[in-house]
Amino acid sequence: MIDTHCHLEMSPFEGETDSVIDRAHSVGVNTMITIGSSPDSIEKAAALTGRYPSVYAAIGIHPHDASLFTSDIYRQIKDLSSNKKVVAIGETGLDYHYKHSPVDVQKEVFIKQITLSKETNLPVIIHCREADDDVVSIIKSESVSQGVLHCFSGDEKMAEAVIKAGLLISISGVVTFKNAAALRAVVAAIPDDFLLVETDAPYLAPMPHRGKRNEPAYVTHTARAVAQIRGVAYEDIDRITTLNANRLFGLEPSEQVKGQVAYKIRNSLYLNITNRCTNVCTFCVRYQTDFVKGHNLRLSREPSDAEIIESIGANAHTYDEVVFCGYGEPLMRLETVVNVSRYVKSEGGRVRINTNGLGSVIHKRNILPELAGIVDCISISLNAQDAATYQRLSHPPFDGAYEAVLKFIAEARGIIPEVVATVVDAPGVDIERCREIAASLGAKFRLRHLDVVG
Ligand code: SF4
Repeated sequence: MIDTHCHLEMSPFEGETDSVIDRAHSVGVNTMITIGSSPDSIEKAAALTGRYPSVYAAIGIHPHDASLFTSDIYRQIKDLSSNKKVVAIGETGLDYHYKHSPVDVQKEVFIKQITLSKETNLPVIIHCREADDDVVSIIKSESVSQGVLHCFSGDEKMAEAVIKAGLLISISGVVTFKNAAALRAVVAAIPDDFLLVETDAPYLAPMPHRGKRNEPAYVTHTARAVAQIRGVAYEDIDRITTLNANRLFGLEPSEQVKGQVAYKIRNSLYLNITNRCTNVCTFCVRYQTDFVKGHNLRLSREPSDAEIIESIGANAHTYDEVVFCGYGEPLMRLETVVNVSRYVKSEGGRVRINTNGLGSVIHKRNILPELAGIVDCISISLNAQDAATYQRLSHPPFDGAYEAVLKFIAEARGIIPEVVATVVDAPGVDIERCREIAASLGAKFRLRHLDVVG
């Protein structure tokens, strides 16, 4: 877990940084970015990185102190940024709540620090309070594309504008406060690739520490709240936000370089056994990124049956289900699916297959009887209400593919205990008509949201 925004150089931590950092490590917060944000603190923040291997720094001038920004400070920030552990410029931005510095000066200094971030090729950390329109306007006019909106407090419109620019959104302990329902709605909708968490310590301690001095260890409370809001596990948020922080700030290269065969999301184990697929769906996530929920799914080669079984281990029964999914069509490897499913069942596990429903076309025979007794659930991508829409969205290489999917769903019903027809809410899809088709085929129906995977 990475606390991407704290102020360890501030006086509330004086003489206590050893114990504060030890407490963070003891709960798995292994990296912290301390933000030197005033003329007095930028050197202190950079110096802390030399004392603690797990501490990195960002340096800049907070909008409160914009009036104190000088050309000497500009040079000082630039010089300090040559330290490899200085990983961002900021926090800078606009704060219209207090207006400690005049608005015009805040804007000017914000733009100067954006220039600094470009000159140093470091991301910019943006503070925004009650200044959403002006911050978005400057992000656009200055073409800012590498950075983060820290301690996000805006609405969905603001989040969309920020994400569209390519910036990440960092969530603080405010998300745990009782009166933060609007923020929680935004948190639920942020795409995985754009999410970070932070403390902003010593400020804004999350529940159950609200009102006390905040510290990096408490980012775990924020991450737990974010996990609950997004319906995933704490470990999922840890993995996702660590990957995002490592990428944005160029921290230790902990990114998985090898494609994962077995990967856990919530309490299910997913199996990524091939990257091949007959279809080329317009909404397929594998054309956008190598990662799902922080797991690299781009395989360099297909794993053998033995390797897949080894990656499952002996605990198949402890998962809610073991799911053939990943970056490809699992039934391209029918024999492997059968062998591995047998193993999972022998270990007391539950098996689900996520498929495009073209397995019988691929293998030129009805393959469903081969799955009888070893597969508990099959999720089949119906995708569309008619053949023309299916063709436009999924680009199958076969004639009659849509009809084949309908047949596969209908036939699966008598063989596999649970059959689910799935649809993504892509443009042109008639959700209600698809729901009716699923019902007419005797299948359950599941709606998936565009660009939300895992
Ligand atoms: S069927 Fe699934 S894996 Fe294949 S292209 Fe479509 S979404 Fe991607």
